[in-house]
Amino acid sequence: MGNKQIAVIGGGIAGLTAAYYLQKEIRTHQLPYEVKLIEASEELGGKIKTVKKDGFTIERGPDSFLARKTSAARLATEAGLEDELIRVSSGKSYILANGELHSMPKGSFMGIPTQIKPFVTSSLFSIPGKLRAAGDFVLPKGKPQEDQALGHFFRRRLGNEVVENMIEPLLSGIYSGDVDKLSLMATFPNFYDMEQKYGSLIRGLQETTAKPSKSGTQKKPGMFLTLKNGLSSLVTAVEEKLEEETVLKGVAVNQIEKKNESYQLSLSNGKALSADAVIMAAPHLAAQKMLNQYDFMNEWKEMPSTSVANVAMAFDAADIEDDIDGTGFVVSRNSDFRITACTWTHKKWPHTTPEGKALVRCYVGRPDDQEVVHFSDEEIEEIVLRDLNKQMKIKGKPEMKVVTRWKNVMPQYTVGHKQRVQRVKEQMEQHLPGVFLAGSSYEGIGLPDCIDQGENAVRDVLAFLNK
Ligand code: FAD
Repeated sequence: MGNKQIAVIGGGIAGLTAAYYLQKEIRTHQLPYEVKLIEASEELGGKIKTVKKDGFTIERGPDSFLARKTSAARLATEAGLEDELIRVSSGKSYILANGELHSMPKGSFMGIPTQIKPFVTSSLFSIPGKLRAAGDFVLPKGKPQEDQALGHFFRRRLGNEVVENMIEPLLSGIYSGDVDKLSLMATFPNFYDMEQKYGSLIRGLQETTAKPSKSGTQKKPGMFLTLKNGLSSLVTAVEEKLEEETVLKGVAVNQIEKKNESYQLSLSNGKALSADAVIMAAPHLAAQKMLNQYDFMNEWKEMPSTSVANVAMAFDAADIEDDIDGTGFVVSRNSDFRITACTWTHKKWPHTTPEGKALVRCYVGRPDDQEVVHFSDEEIEEIVLRDLNKQMKIKGKPEMKVVTRWKNVMPQYTVGHKQRVQRVKEQMEQHLPGVFLAGSSYEGIGLPDCIDQGENAVRDVLAFLNK
């Protein structure tokens, strides 16, 4: 009998991780399996796209990953890039609220205060807003609930002002979504648990996070890591570790049919591929199309995706005349701005920028301002420069810019998301044994979350085939 075939569909970071660890397991344990990674576009990496231009390293998609979730650094180490990992330079960051920049209050975690003094003295909130937030210490905990909107939960505990001026700009920056629609349990279930356990988020965070050093001199290491040559170097390094015949690029899977004990994949090049197990690492709507004969996959049609665009602009450092001491800011919706976030990339990641230059990256595309993503490069540049010049003085136009549009690609974990994923998984187990989901549409959008899902899918496939 020939080797069993495993198909991994989608060569973003989730699929790439799955293919890599499958191959490693097969080699280590001499398993009678073969892997095929099928990617619709001509390149692996999905949303990871680094551009090198005029000496700058520009990320069109993700620019870093959370260090405390260890799977991404582990994958980089597996790929031989351990020495290229770089930790973010810590610097001041700001929130733009009511048209003004305010320092992020020290000790806040995802917008929730853990230290009282920086919060009380912050210019970000009014006195009534601060008093309302202190209600978190005394308000009763909410009734146990399956799920609720992030916005609803935080407004109840801390009041509207803290949500609007701090929590919303930070969280909607991560999820490119509306906090009043996003699911608490699919994004920050730990806050729900904290409320249930401690009756207060502030107290819960104080109990569970490291206390600041007494002298105040010990600098906290930055929370994010990236790679010296850009995140695409991770994709390239992992791809190089795969056997040549493993990867099929420029070929999409159109349809998947169950044939007795195996699956028949119809490919866009007119060919077909047979697989004993499948890892679906393509976005949810692509998965729905491949398996559209199954009504339960229609759940994915209920899951929206939003769009964003970013523009990276290079300047001569001297052209930024009225600079700000910090690494960037996020924008609250109560400001008359269209940009949603801005990073002074040259300060946050100095390795990306040649000496004497500045690299600024800004996002547009609030959930209620989606049309801006479709504007021309020039229009986006103009909007961004106009907004930036309200806060700093930039002379003239950028020497170089890279505009990237991400249309309908940011999956929205709306209320009930976890249950939705669970329902589809249960149906798949019943009707599509040996087919597993991985990737940003399902159980976490951060790079380490997608890598974790790739690793988990490997475990599931091996358990299935080894049965
Ligand atoms: P994708 O990268 O979307 O890969 C899916 C792949 O499937 C694609 O390559 C696609 O071509 C392929 N495919 C689709 N249909 C088919 C088919 N029919 N057949 C074969 N192949 C198919 N995360 C962080 O941790 N840090 C950040 O700083 C960060 N910033 C971000 C900034 C932006 C602008 C964006 C868009 C995302 C950001 N994220 C960030 C999130 C993170 O980048 C993504 O969640 C993650 O890269 C998604 O990986 P994935 O493998 O699940 O999906």
